[in-house]
Amino acid sequence: MVDCPRGQDMPVLRQSFELGLVLCRTCGLAVSRASLGVDRRCPRCQGRIEQRTPFSTEMTLAWLIAGIVFYVPANLLPVMHTRGLLGEADSTILGGILEFWRSGDWDIALLIFIASVAVPFTKFIAIGLLLISAPHFTGSWSSSVIGRCSTSSLSH
Ligand SMILES: [Zn+2]
Repeated sequence: MVDCPRGQDMPVLRQSFELGLVLCRTCGLAVSRASLGVDRRCPRCQGRIEQRTPFSTEMTLAWLIAGIVFYVPANLLPVMHTRGLLGEADSTILGGILEFWRSGDWDIALLIFIASVAVPFTKFIAIGLLLISAPHFTGSWSSSVIGRCSTSSLSH
């Protein structure tokens, strides 16, 4: 417990790494790192226990790229087809936003813009920045790419 300025005690939150614990991703059991054998198996379910999710930054990068790739057509391709007395029309998200804006429903247009365009774009930026700042990512992937680039530039 830590003393707060007002005299209230607040619990100190410690990470599992500080406590020497790892979590079995199969059954959820918290296992002491010291008790793990060489094979690193969970005592309850015998699942393999890893300190980190293998290739987690690489998988995050792959999901980020996939999200960016699908973000463009998701906003540019038609999401709705309407058929009425005056004909048929396809509507995209961006087209719908403009249509709501022009008709005076700026609040609905703004809501759709934030939910469909701004929030996903902000998430791409945030995840990209987190990936770049991740020690595992900068330590392995970027240094290996930099190493390869410098090696190839030296060979030319
Ligand atoms: Zn387990």
